[in-house]
This record gives sequence, structure tokens and C-alpha cells, in this order.
Amino acid sequence: MKQLRSIKGTHDILPSESNKWQKLEAIVNEVCEQYGYHEIRNPIFEGTGLFSRSVGEETDIVSKEMYSWEDRDGTSLTLRPELTASVTRSFIQHNLGSQSPIHRLYYIGPLFRRERPQKGRQRQFHQFGIEAFGANNPEQDAEIIAIAWEILSRCGLSDNANLNINSIGSRECRNAYRNALKDYIHPYLNELSETSQHRFNTNPLRILDTKSEKEQAILKDAPKISEYHTQDDSIHFESLIGFLRAMDIPFVINHKLVRGLDYYTRTVFEFNSLKLGAQDALLGGGRYDDLVEALGGKPTPGIGFAAGMERFIIAMEESGLQLKGATPDIYFVCLDERGIASTLNISNKLRRIGLKVVLDPLRRSMKSQLREANKLEAKFALILGETEINDNTVSFKDLEKGIQKTILQSEVINFFDDLTN
Ligand code: AMP
Repeated sequence: MKQLRSIKGTHDILPSESNKWQKLEAIVNEVCEQYGYHEIRNPIFEGTGLFSRSVGEETDIVSKEMYSWEDRDGTSLTLRPELTASVTRSFIQHNLGSQSPIHRLYYIGPLFRRERPQKGRQRQFHQFGIEAFGANNPEQDAEIIAIAWEILSRCGLSDNANLNINSIGSRECRNAYRNALKDYIHPYLNELSETSQHRFNTNPLRILDTKSEKEQAILKDAPKISEYHTQDDSIHFESLIGFLRAMDIPFVINHKLVRGLDYYTRTVFEFNSLKLGAQDALLGGGRYDDLVEALGGKPTPGIGFAAGMERFIIAMEESGLQLKGATPDIYFVCLDERGIASTLNISNKLRRIGLKVVLDPLRRSMKSQLREANKLEAKFALILGETEINDNTVSFKDLEKGIQKTILQSEVINFFDDLTN
């Protein structure tokens, strides 16, 4: 029979890897909670219309990367390709805006995009991200970027990451800029790639994103979006820059940063790793002041970011952060069937005082069990053999220091309580 395999672009996260994920998730949970953000968990699939209306019909995600299917009742459903749309849907559906003027949310979970798989780019991948609804002041933008920076720092990545920021202005600014950019590009239209020619008609700002050197050269003297900022756009951006400086967060202003999605307004930003090669975008985000209204809610400003967890983990490995998994405190060696019940009982009590205790369900020899204890890097072994059973004792062995002792079974919990406190 043909061997069953995971689908192209999806990956199993095996126990040898999962400790890294848990470490990253712990940092995300801790930092977000420190800033007053609480976790939201949304469904994996949604109605297709949610993404076409928010992310935008003309984006790569919606036009070619979604996993969509028709349900039995004819409804079109889609595996979520990003989470801002789902979180916003949920914000509107549960009328969160009426409960409090500010909502600070974060998420961790899988997403699905039918992209060409390569290192750091998968079809099922994971993001953590945050969304803050309710505030349109620049200190909210500064807080969002500060959270991203703090998570990167605690993951050991901030020394090798660049923060690029830009403001793509309000809607009126973008309308004026779009025309100016099209006027500038028009004479070069035939020299552009097919993709850029298509974008010229659908979403010309995205041409600024081009990776082609030829197109970058053409765009060198293109008008800058900052020249089209309204006064409020400029004040917002200048204030943000001041706040980032006040927090000692280094950044570069990149006039060509527009980001792919349709819903952004004003601030956009991206953290790129200097160590990841082609797929170097670690985290990206921006303000989306029109999104809640566009999806049918009361006008509410919002801003957030999303970070690729696979890329974080690759970068964390490369930066040499200690990502070793947890090792047992105690390996409990039972050598006599009559001792199994006591072994189970004492082990549970030890776990209740916070210790990690591993048992051998294979009833192997003392030598094999101790070999396993060493392999797992257990600190201590407890041994329950014939003599110990007869004496109501258990033998204790410090596997690092080689010290050995006999303890009464009734004293084991107190013994470890003293030892570990
Ligand atoms: P986006 O939602 O496209 O703004 O992406 C935000 C972040 O998610 C990127 O900076 C990447 O780190 C990560 N990311 C996006 N697409 C993929 C993918 N196909 N595989 C792995 N990571 C991804």
C-alpha cells in the first residue's frame, strides 16, 4: 500500500520541535498580557465573503491562494488565510465596541494559503498577532510596534531585525497619490512585468512592492506618498516617530512599503530578519481605520500586526537561543510488579507538588530503566525493588551528583519538598 504522507506545504511539529513552539507561545502570551491584551480564538473556517470584502478581491491571497469550497447547502466556505478579518468579524458580531471603548486582543493559530512551498513559506502555517480596536491616536500605533519589538527582543531576534515603517495615509491621500503614481508610471507601462501591468489597473500602489531591479530603477524618482499626506496624516506619522524614538526602538522610514492587503490606512510596518534569506519578513502590520465599517460595524479605528511563527522559530534557532525541551525531575524505576500501585500513587503526589515524574510502562530491567533516565537527562531516580517493598522504603539517587539514600515511602513527598525548595 502507498505510504500515507502529509500534504505538500504542511508539516508535522514533532515533540523534538514542539518545545520551541511552546517557548515562543509562552513569550507571546506573557508579553501580550503584560500590555493588557487578551487572547481571542476564532474558527478555522469562515464564509468566503469575509475575506474577499476585507482583504480585497485583487490581492494575491484572495485571487489565487484561498482554500475555498462549496458546502452541501451551497455556501462558499474558506479556510482562513489571515486573522484580522476573522477577529474583526467577531468584534462586530459580539458588539464588543459597545462594551468598552478599547479592545485589545491577540491570537495564535494556523492559517492556510495555497502558495508555492519553500523554506519559510508553507500552505498551512502559523501566526501570532494582535489587534487593538477603538483608538486612532498615534500612541496606539506606538504600543503595537512596541509589543512586536518586545516579543522579538525576548526571542533574541531584535539585534538582527530591521523595522521598516511608512504611512500610506488616509483614503483621500491615497486616492490623490494613486493618480499621481499612475501618471508617473504610465510612460513605462510596456517595460513592466505582466503582474505589475495588471496591478497598474487594479492596485497600483502594490507596484511599489516589486522585487524586480528593473522596476525598482523605474520607480526611483516616483512621487512619494508622504508628499500627498493630509495634515492629519503627517501629524500622526510624526508623532509616531517621536514615540518610537522615546522608547529607543530603532526604525527606518521606507516610502515604498505599502503591504499587500487592501484594508490598511496610515501606519504600515514590517520587521525583516537579516538572517532569513528570501523569505525574510518576520512580522507585518498596520492601521485599518475603515475595516470595521467596511464589514458592517460602527466606524471604529483599529491597528494590529501578524507574525509568522515558522519564520520566528527558524530565526530563533539561527540566533542560538536555548530551545531545549523540559527534562524530568525524577525517573521512577519500579522493579517488582507488587510495587506498581505504590509507584503510580507516589508519582502522582510528586507531580502535585510540581515535579516532573516519568515512569517505565515496559517493566524493563534496572539497567535499561536507568539508561533511559540518563537519556532523558532526569535529575533524580527513585527505585522501588523487592527490598524496598519489604521495608516500605524507596531508594533515591541523585543522577548528577551520584549521591544515594534510602527514604521511607511515607517521607518521599516531604523529602522532595525540602530538596527542591
Ligand atoms: P501577512 O499576513 O501576509 O502580512 O504575513 C504576516 C507574516 O506571516 C509574514 O511576515 C510571514 O512571517 C508570515 N507568513 C505569511 N505567509 C506565510 C507562509 N505561506 N508561510 C509561512 N509564513 C508566512
